[in-house]
Amino acid sequence: MEVEHGLARARAVVDDEPVVGQPLLRRDAAGHSKEVPDEGLVGGLDGVGARDRCARDDQDVRRGLGRDIAEGDRAVVLVDEVGRDVAIGDLLEEGLVGSVGHGGRYRRGGRQANRAPSLSPPPLDPVRPYVLADLSWPEARDAAFAVAVLPWGATEPHNLHLPYATDTIQAEGVAAEAARRAWERGARVVVLPPVPFGANAMQLGLGPVIDLRPSTQALVLGDVVRSLEAAGVARLVVLNGHGGNDFKPMIRELQAQTPVFLCALDWWRAAPAADHFDAPGDHAGELETSAMLHLQPDLVRPLAEAGDGAERPFRVAALREGWAWAPRDWHRMTADTGVGDPRPATAEKGAAFVDAVAERVAGFLVELAAMDPADPYE
Ligand SMILES: [Zn+2]
Repeated sequence: MEVEHGLARARAVVDDEPVVGQPLLRRDAAGHSKEVPDEGLVGGLDGVGARDRCARDDQDVRRGLGRDIAEGDRAVVLVDEVGRDVAIGDLLEEGLVGSVGHGGRYRRGGRQANRAPSLSPPPLDPVRPYVLADLSWPEARDAAFAVAVLPWGATEPHNLHLPYATDTIQAEGVAAEAARRAWERGARVVVLPPVPFGANAMQLGLGPVIDLRPSTQALVLGDVVRSLEAAGVARLVVLNGHGGNDFKPMIRELQAQTPVFLCALDWWRAAPAADHFDAPGDHAGELETSAMLHLQPDLVRPLAEAGDGAERPFRVAALREGWAWAPRDWHRMTADTGVGDPRPATAEKGAAFVDAVAERVAGFLVELAAMDPADPYE
């Protein structure tokens, strides 16, 4: 399913590009533009995998697509847009190399049942039973989920090197990995599709930032809770990926109106950052850049292009020291939209931190799933 979604999305992305006879440019992991046809089928599939961003578990996508095509892949059957089976080997022989990535004309059959029984590489990862977007109606209807996890991100710039969807990718990536671990321990957890828009009024105008007012967010959250209540899901965790989102006051108000047990966490606070980073930074710094190098490296520009993330502190001491608070004007207090130096970031640090966070959140989800929402106190 990951791959099917990935290709569907890639098709949407490339459909507005020139399809025949003109090179299609994609960015590779190092940030360089490449012409897909020159890379043939391998590059095309790779490009498709790379295009699949926040909506999927990207590691699964990479396992499925972001690798070179091996000889054994010739037997892999794709399904074309009129439903015919086409083997990769046939595509190669017909000289259609490149057309998979180029026009996104083919998609893999998503479900195990759609695949030819003789596939020589192992089948792609199956549907994730803990991700709502992957599930059919019978699967979701009969699952009796105990806990829903709502990843909530933002659409805003992150220094010069990270994508606008950074907060959404991180929230969803952590949610999916934590849910996977919790599921394997028997907890009936489900990750909801992420909300990609955060509270960003102080960044408006920094490119196409999309700002949801907190009052709008409260309405969205309220409707999600109402829907979960109707579905009989008794617990909700809002897994926040954006520092400007503040769910506490919303939950205070909503909790009095619903039996669904409501709670929230900021993913980057779920494990001690100091164990992994010298200076984690506040926004697009060492922590977030490392996490992105682990979760979605194809969307990270070369660190040599990143700004230093220097922050202009408030003139007033109490605001500087943080015991008094005012929202920051991101147009004036940073030159590159970052706060914190990203340049010491590495994928290894990101992997270790995301692992620590996912493990901690998984433990929380297991415990929460077993807790009686009507009797949460010892
Ligand atoms: Zn961020």
